[in-house]
Amino acid sequence: MPEGDTLWRTAAALRDRILGSTCRDVRPSTFARLIGQNVTGVEPYGKHLLITFDSGLALHSHLGMRGAWYVHRPGEALTRPEQEVTAMLTFDDWIVALYLGKVTELIAGNSRIRHLGPDILAEVFDVDTVGMRARADPVRAIGEVLLNQAVVAGIGNVYKCESLWAESTDPWKPVGEIDHTQLCRIYSTARRMMLDSALGQDRRNHVHGRAGRPCLRCSHIIRARNQGNPPRLTYWCPHCQTSPG
Ligand SMILES: [Zn+2]
Repeated sequence: MPEGDTLWRTAAALRDRILGSTCRDVRPSTFARLIGQNVTGVEPYGKHLLITFDSGLALHSHLGMRGAWYVHRPGEALTRPEQEVTAMLTFDDWIVALYLGKVTELIAGNSRIRHLGPDILAEVFDVDTVGMRARADPVRAIGEVLLNQAVVAGIGNVYKCESLWAESTDPWKPVGEIDHTQLCRIYSTARRMMLDSALGQDRRNHVHGRAGRPCLRCSHIIRARNQGNPPRLTYWCPHCQTSPG
């Protein structure tokens, strides 16, 4: 089954070839509105892929269990059998084709999927993909990245602080300096805490709102400082949140 890293590679490969190009032909004909439009972006969202056009329309596809995108030169033989073609877009220099895709549809470019990452509380949560997307801006601090709704939708300031404390991670650490496993652990912890909360389980804050009081793990003093733009108050223990990853 294709995973998020596959989608990232696929998106990059398609982007390299068709970004800025004009769509000349389509299959099936239900996508005919794309003819004459220019590609403005190719973006993965979890296991979804969006090819966006200058009209504001986007071709949304999901690979499902067996789907895959391929690129051809015009005139080349197809990579897979004709009957497996789910969608095909022809450009001057390239043909891109999705075989055995699960979903293909035209959506408005301002659709929700374009702006938000996967919901932190979604039933199926691909933390591996989230971990990779979080690293897209490697110099940004993890305390800011956790609030970036384009990476994951739904984490707020409390769970930002609490998940970083639980995973002993420095909120000011650039996300590019945190290894993938640790990043995934942070997101998984935030999700678990939020699911517990959504299910009504009692929980108390370990670090959020506790500036000036002793850390519950190491007894050093909790600090608070604004972080990001717009600024949000980050609570952390400078002594024991040292980013083991
Ligand atoms: Zn501490």
